[in-house]
This record gives sequence, C-alpha cells and structure tokens, in this order.
Amino acid sequence: MNSLNNTIDMNDFVCLDHLKTFEIICHQCNLLLCARCSTNHNKQHEHNKFCDHIDDIKQSLYKYQSNTQKQFKKQKTTHISTDNNNNNNSSSIFENSRILELWETIKSSNLYFRKLESTESEIKNHFHKMHQYLVVEEQRYQKPIQESKSKTLDTIKNNIEELKHIVNIINLEDRESDSEDNNNNSADTTSSYSIESIMESLNKSNSLLSFIESKDKTVFNISAFTNDKSSYKDLESLILDSIHKYNQQFKKSLIKSNKPDTPPDYQLKTESINTTMIKEMKFLQESYSWL
Ligand SMILES: [Zn+2]
Ligand SMILES: [Zn+2]
Repeated sequence: MNSLNNTIDMNDFVCLDHLKTFEIICHQCNLLLCARCSTNHNKQHEHNKFCDHIDDIKQSLYKYQSNTQKQFKKQKTTHISTDNNNNNNSSSIFENSRILELWETIKSSNLYFRKLESTESEIKNHFHKMHQYLVVEEQRYQKPIQESKSKTLDTIKNNIEELKHIVNIINLEDRESDSEDNNNNSADTTSSYSIESIMESLNKSNSLLSFIESKDKTVFNISAFTNDKSSYKDLESLILDSIHKYNQQFKKSLIKSNKPDTPPDYQLKTESINTTMIKEMKFLQESYSWL
C-alpha cells in the first residue's frame, strides 16, 4: 500500500509500487493511487464511491469555473443546505455549498472580530477618561496644599533669617574674644545651610537653644557676621550698626502683625473607592452561528 506524503517531488509523482503515474485520489483515505493501486484499494476497502479520477476532477473543475458566477448567484438567494455536506463525500471540495460555507464562516468571523475590536477600544476609552479625570482631580486637591507648602517654606526661611540676625547681635559681645576660633570651620558645608537641613534640625530640636547649637557652625556662625568687624572703631559701633541693619531689613515684618494668619488645615477624608464609577461590563453571550 502506498503511503506517500504530501511533500513529494513533482518529478517523482509516480506510484513507487507500480511505477505508474497517479491518476486517482481516494478522498476517504486521502491516498493518491495509480490505476493498479486503485483496483487493489477498491478490492480491499470498497472505496469506489470515494475515489475520483483526475479526468473527472478536471471536468468538474472546468464545469465549476464556467458556472461559478451563475451558481453563486443562485446559491446566494437560497438557503445553503448542509445535508449533502459530508467531508467523506468524494466531490465535497468542489461543491458550492462548501465554498459558500467557508465564505459565510469567514465573513461571520470577521464581523465578530470587528465587534471585539470595537468593545476593546470602548473599554480602553472608558478607562482613559477615568484616568484623565483622576489626574485632574488629584491636581485640584494638591494645588492648594502645594501653594501652602511653598508659602510656609518662605515663612520659615524669612523667620530663620531674622532669628539669625538677632542671635548674632546677642552673641556679638560673647564671641568678640574668641571669634578667631570659628574662622576656619570645616563643618561649614553648603548643604547644612539648605532649608531641608534647617528643617531637619527643627524636627530634632526641642528647644530654641538646642536648635541654635545644632546650627552654630553654619547658619548661626558669628564669624561670617563679624567679618567686617575691623572696619568698626569699637564693639559698640558694631552692635549699633548691626541693630540698624536689622531694622532696615526686618522692620516691615515687625510693624505688621508678627502672628501670621492661621493657615488652613487640609485634611483628606476619603471613603473606599467607589467602584460603581466603573461601568459594568457584561459579557453578552451571543450565539454566533457559524453556518
Ligand atoms: Zn480509500
Ligand atoms: Zn500503484
């Protein structure tokens, strides 16, 4: 029995048992047969009704081609009958019903695919809108907080600056004798002057004294303040001028109420996320008839 596979070379398109050209196909076994094979095959299996000779196939193909348009038109208007559609039928692949069946299935699959695509983009748009809404909402809530933070930072900076002046004036007399000690201070780095570092010290300090001590090498370092001490004829003039400068710089804040307006207290009160915002999605079980 021949068991030739589909990758056969066209030059070898002969039955190797009988060295004869294949002429017949058994649709049931999907076997190519030469005339002699065919006789044996039908004796063994009685597959005569499943066998097609190439001449008959050619004839039916020709007939099919010439009638295609006419037949398609005819079939289109009448319901496709699948009664005769039997894959074992010898001539099934040449029947209009099979071709139309494929066509309808492809069309139907295509339609279903488009529907899936449309639902997919609907879901995407819905969540995109929700995402945008959330971004806008978040910004709306954050904005006054950020503005308040920025204002508060400015207040801290200004008040630290003023505190620095006062502390330095107070220390002028004390440090007059030992101001040389702090002239070359290695602890004096730019980062320890930063507002972040100052606020960190504020967190750690329980008293004004401990805060000033934590920053006495940098923010409250008197040597920077008294660098031009030599230009004063005595300590008294230095103190007087320092107070004068202080008044020039901070008088405005002295005149206006030193108590800043009570800042608003922002609190976030949330409930668990409301999931009904998300449209309920139903998986409609649509029965697609694959015809
Ligand atoms: Zn067979
Ligand atoms: Zn043969």
